[in-house]
Amino acid sequence: MSALLKVENLSVTVQNRPILYDVSLEMEKGETWGLVGASGAGKSMLARSITGLLPRGISVTGGQILYNGLDWLKTKELVRRRIRGNGIGYLVQNTASGLDPVYTVQQQMVETLLANDCADSQEEAIEVSADWLGKVGFIEVRRILSSYPHSLSGGMVQRVYLAMVFMLNPELVIADEFSTGLDSTTEKEMLGLLFQVAEKSSLLMITHNILLLGGLTDKMAVMNGGVIVESGPTELILKKPLHAYSQALLGAGDNMDPIAVQEFGVSVVSCGCPFFSRCDSPWEECAAQLPHVREVEGRKVRCHRY
Ligand code: SF4
Repeated sequence: MSALLKVENLSVTVQNRPILYDVSLEMEKGETWGLVGASGAGKSMLARSITGLLPRGISVTGGQILYNGLDWLKTKELVRRRIRGNGIGYLVQNTASGLDPVYTVQQQMVETLLANDCADSQEEAIEVSADWLGKVGFIEVRRILSSYPHSLSGGMVQRVYLAMVFMLNPELVIADEFSTGLDSTTEKEMLGLLFQVAEKSSLLMITHNILLLGGLTDKMAVMNGGVIVESGPTELILKKPLHAYSQALLGAGDNMDPIAVQEFGVSVVSCGCPFFSRCDSPWEECAAQLPHVREVEGRKVRCHRY
């Protein structure tokens, strides 16, 4: 069976500076993955590479991305745009930016459904929209439909956006720091909702908080300095992290906010281990040589110790 998503040896560069280096990740249909690391580790750049939404001036310089066997980087933008709706959904961190302030929720949901062939008529699109608003917890769905985004709270806009992504029945959804900035109760509620509506989709959840992944994702990848330093089954890594950076993230506990987490981030390098300056017991070769990826104890690790 071919993978739903296969990222192979991906390198991404801005002004000749690598910001992702030799990144590989393989997701099967129905799997949930976590991608964890500090701000600036390269998580969002990987998400944007997968969705084909890299900012201007940032380019892929090596490797490939296969989506359902399709060579994604060589696929025409017109085709990718179609696939982005029904195939790959992207829940961005700032959901407000995903909604247009001059149109009502109904206008935006209906237009999105019709443009992606997920409804045959205006009436059907309104019904599907109302149904999805109900699924994400709204009771007064007609009032929400006729509202403009600015009249809704941040949490409500986030729910609307969640509905808009999942109503297209995407095969894969990338949720980029979806719950960041919410208080812990709302965060739990929103994550519960995300995994509930994602029941039929594969999910790649990007977060800076490694502790959020336990019990939610099947597998995870830990990213530091633009490279994946450890990846494999979530429970295995949480129980016994092998890379020093995974251990540092876990040791920091659940009190880490994005700013505190930045402490762990280091500049992206393509030679030595990106965690070299903070590693407790580095080896001689660690400063100059990026370790190869090795299979160790049921996961992949990029560290000279293994
Ligand atoms: S590669 Fe070297 S510096 Fe990096 S985590 Fe392993 S031992 Fe530490």
